[in-house]
Amino acid sequence: MSHHLRCSLDRLREDLLALGQIGRNPDDKGLYRMAFTEADMEARRWLLDRLRAAGADAKLDGAANVVGRWEGADGDLPTIVIGSHIDSVPAGGIFDGSLGVLAGLECMRALRDAEVKLSRPVELVAFSDEEGRFGGMFGVQAYTGQLTLNDVESMKDPDGVSLVDAMKACDLVPSLAMEAARKPDRIAAFLELHIEQGPVLEAQRTDIGVVLGISGIFKWKVKLLGKADHAGTSPMDMRSDAFMGLADFAHEIPRIIEEDGSERSRLTVGKVDLVPGHPHTVPGEAVFTLVGRDTEPDVLRELAKSCRKVLSAIARRHRLYFEFEEMSWLEPRPCDASIATAFRSAAERLSLSHIDMPSGAGHDTQFMTDVTRAGMIFVPSANGVSHAPDEWTAWEDVHNGANCLLQALLDVDAGSEGETLETGG
Ligand SMILES: [Zn+2]
Repeated sequence: MSHHLRCSLDRLREDLLALGQIGRNPDDKGLYRMAFTEADMEARRWLLDRLRAAGADAKLDGAANVVGRWEGADGDLPTIVIGSHIDSVPAGGIFDGSLGVLAGLECMRALRDAEVKLSRPVELVAFSDEEGRFGGMFGVQAYTGQLTLNDVESMKDPDGVSLVDAMKACDLVPSLAMEAARKPDRIAAFLELHIEQGPVLEAQRTDIGVVLGISGIFKWKVKLLGKADHAGTSPMDMRSDAFMGLADFAHEIPRIIEEDGSERSRLTVGKVDLVPGHPHTVPGEAVFTLVGRDTEPDVLRELAKSCRKVLSAIARRHRLYFEFEEMSWLEPRPCDASIATAFRSAAERLSLSHIDMPSGAGHDTQFMTDVTRAGMIFVPSANGVSHAPDEWTAWEDVHNGANCLLQALLDVDAGSEGETLETGG
């Protein structure tokens, strides 16, 4: 066992800062490296060079995922995949996604320097369009075989640019995306390191967050329908005021979570329209979005049921009608228990504090859970900021995360990642 092995923070820092220059808008502090833009392609070429310099066989697969591969000592074993993404949102930060990819690269260099040969092959993947410029997570969906040619041909960005046109402009062949799909039985495990993008680890002064699962999400469009009346002539007790219904519902949210949710539940009313929306008119209609999240499928269903019950009781109380439309329902994706165990024991060997936590944001890991034993860890985000130019993670935390990834990789390769390990692979 190579428990003394550590990543080089100097090399990792150098890579993060170098990649952090690609797609940087000179007038702005942030990164503009949206999927299939010129800057994104430049970043992919830069990464291919870095992977080759570290001894990997590196190429773009059919979905333009950057894939670097190192063969193992036993050529016939399924592959351990490490990955994240290098695309950014507009005005994004330098750690989101890039940390997981470049830390994975640094792990492989640390192993090479120490002349440690893993028994399994390792693939390091920077998945295309994790940030969802074209509406999904194109790269990892292709890699895990969860994409149809029809999906590829119908994906568009918010400006109406099709994925097909964007790929062709980069000299890529969109239909080849189907060939990016891997056989699940050739993948042994998936590991991802990512910044938390939230305030919890910093607030709790904890080094590592071991992710238990990616939250499922339901998104509703809710309508409370009352009666628009003159605000002066209609007495308070004779109104059907849709806003009062919405206000009552908002007030009930903490109780709904307390009674039917969990500490990982989230309910958010993010967008509200009052109709007719006039200062001197009682609002006859309140149209709003309701987004619910939890990591447990049953809890998410209970939350949804409870919201429906509460809304209909409130509607009756205020003489309103209530309708809702389910815009989307995404099942929670639990991470693998044996991979979580590997990350926990890695953190303990490194004397790092750790807590278990959910991921409220989506990540490449969520699609990998469908095909293999997948797990991820978070390191702290300063002030919880992400998807913004002042996104920051302390270099010490960068180093901790990379070392934790390296130690977990060694355990998974050796098959010593805890009692819950399933046999085979
Ligand atoms: Zn990310």
